[in-house]
Amino acid sequence: MFGIDIAQRVKELPPYLFKEIDKQKQEAVKAGADVINLGVGDPDLPTPNYVIEALNKAAVEPANHRYPSYAGMEAFNKEAALWLKKRFNINIKLDEIITLIGSKEGIAHTPLAFINPGDIALIPDPAYPVYENAVRFAGGVPFYMPLKKENDFLPDLDAIPKDIAQKAKLIFLNYPNNPTSATAELSFFNQLVSYAKKYNIIVCHDAAYTEIYYNGKKPASFLEAEGAKEVGIEYHSLSKTYNMTGWRIGFAAGGSDIINALGKIKSNVDSGVFQAIQIAGIAALKSEETYINRINEIYEKRKKIILDALNSVGIKAYDPKTTFYIWFEVPKGYTSAQFVSLLLSKAHIVTIPGNGFGKAGEGYARIALTVSEERIKEAALRIENAKF
Ligand SMILES: *Cc1c(COP(=O)(O)O)cnc(C)c1O
Repeated sequence: MFGIDIAQRVKELPPYLFKEIDKQKQEAVKAGADVINLGVGDPDLPTPNYVIEALNKAAVEPANHRYPSYAGMEAFNKEAALWLKKRFNINIKLDEIITLIGSKEGIAHTPLAFINPGDIALIPDPAYPVYENAVRFAGGVPFYMPLKKENDFLPDLDAIPKDIAQKAKLIFLNYPNNPTSATAELSFFNQLVSYAKKYNIIVCHDAAYTEIYYNGKKPASFLEAEGAKEVGIEYHSLSKTYNMTGWRIGFAAGGSDIINALGKIKSNVDSGVFQAIQIAGIAALKSEETYINRINEIYEKRKKIILDALNSVGIKAYDPKTTFYIWFEVPKGYTSAQFVSLLLSKAHIVTIPGNGFGKAGEGYARIALTVSEERIKEAALRIENAKF
């Protein structure tokens, strides 16, 4: 009889961590509850009109119907480099940049370019699960760096054992951070470059949230650090910045050898991004700063409403300086899973348990501010009335 034997790497994938909360959500909806989903971090705001118009125009052009270059259109890569120059004052040449089918794609393919079976990769905990799973797909072994409150949710590089650092091939990091909403200063990135040079570790920095910030203080890029390009790569995404999660476009910039190696993997896996989407991406990257400011004002209002509600019931939440997430401590006596469950049953609000992002996330939960102000106000009211 024919039998399907799934590969070990698939069998070993961690179980879908939101399975339990998803099930509870389905049950609540079935029972007629008006559930507010503050779980997934997928912006509710629309893509700007001028981006949609650019797509419409480019989509009818037959020249755009053919295979794109796997490295991206020169025009898109040039615009992305210009964006990096304007925003961070970083100089990036064309062989130091590559178009991605969303930053997730570039992140997931990077370990295949550098990891040999058994190689170690340093992974933050809690974190976006793609880093760890991509390392495992390449046969690598993750070593977890806990992100602790007492270190402002930055990894303590000195706490990584020397023999591990010597064996490590890659380090993944993400600032502004999902899920903790922590930011890294340029001084940390400088330290990171020295560390990477000392131990010969490639830095893979996920910069998906650099444009979501409050109080006008713009987060730094890893590539601003002296010598960053020699040791690393940074992934940028149009998804969160321009409300384009469904469009699948981003880019990576860094040392040409690193970009080239990632490109070799990509050229054997995908065939680039539909050119009409790249042309729309150019329109997005040309956005005025007033666009970013307007979006951030919307998130800031939402943030304040939820923070006030959490504070009023005695829940310790971190006021985010960046990202559209609120990371908070679950009240004493509850695990993350128990409290998230309670929020759903008492207030019909979906949040994500911190341990879904890794062991060190236990004791925390994450709220995403990606629903309308009206729904945010309703959620705040329910939190205030829930009496935990
Ligand atoms: C949303 C997100 C991404 C993925 O962005 P895409 O460009 O849409 O693939 C990457 N990293 C983190 C931490 C994210 O939250």
